[in-house]
Amino acid sequence: MNIPGETYQDGIEPRKYTIESKFKFACHKGMECYTHCCSDLNMILTPYDIIQMKNRLGLTCDQFLAIYTKPEMLARTKLPVATLKMLDDDKKSCPFITPEGCTIYEDRPLSCRYYPLGIAAFREQEIQPTGEDFYFMVRESHCLGFQADNEWTVGEWRKDQGVEVYDDANQGWMEFMLRKKSFGFQADLSEESRGMFFMVSSNVDRLGRFVFESSFLDKYDVEKDLLEQIKTDEVALLKFGFNWLQSALFGANKVKLKDHALNTYKENAKKAAKAARARR
Ligand code: SF4
Ligand code: SF4
Repeated sequence: MNIPGETYQDGIEPRKYTIESKFKFACHKGMECYTHCCSDLNMILTPYDIIQMKNRLGLTCDQFLAIYTKPEMLARTKLPVATLKMLDDDKKSCPFITPEGCTIYEDRPLSCRYYPLGIAAFREQEIQPTGEDFYFMVRESHCLGFQADNEWTVGEWRKDQGVEVYDDANQGWMEFMLRKKSFGFQADLSEESRGMFFMVSSNVDRLGRFVFESSFLDKYDVEKDLLEQIKTDEVALLKFGFNWLQSALFGANKVKLKDHALNTYKENAKKAAKAARARR
């Protein structure tokens, strides 16, 4: 059994880190390894990463997704995610790295903020689906940051790297990724549901058009103040989107159908049940 703090081979240290777990690390410009960690990455982008990055670059969601991402279907959960597309150079460099550092540093993705820590919700759940929220340490021999004496708890590192605002914005998405039991997420989603998940997760522009330019508001009862807020606030729209997904897919009572839409839904459900009985 490896002991925390020992030198491991490259890869994930076999230990679960909690918010109080300690580690030693430092990273700053001028280190011999500076920027060595910014290539050949398989990085899942969170919904808030996409909002921050596309706004930083002055792009629409569609443009950002087309230029900088490639879609991936997670093997076990079958959830579609957007991953950051590396450049087609020898190193498979991140498109935002330069010798001087990251050109979008203030808006760098959540995974870059956490590094060298990883978040279980992203990929570990694929290996061991526990629904548990924990962290792990990625030790790579090119990274000299572990030689430092600066000691952090995971909580201190999170604060230093500004991840709390990401956690807040990404909460609904994280719950999906962790397949929280309270989410009622037991079975695989249909293709249509996965499409809805991907739209909410990666494309607030499209989500906004879906809410405001389709028959959505004929069916759903959305409070006037909230409606005004989600017209202009992308994070509020994102959170609303996940509340709607929970309601539409798992029957949560967060975004309510209007009476006439609910009655139609019940009628259709009755007809479907009757047709199913008749087929037996
Ligand atoms: S986004 Fe910035 S910090 Fe993250 S891998 Fe790319 S260059 Fe490095
Ligand atoms: S210390 Fe590690 S994280 Fe920092 S620049 Fe070097 S390789 Fe990257």
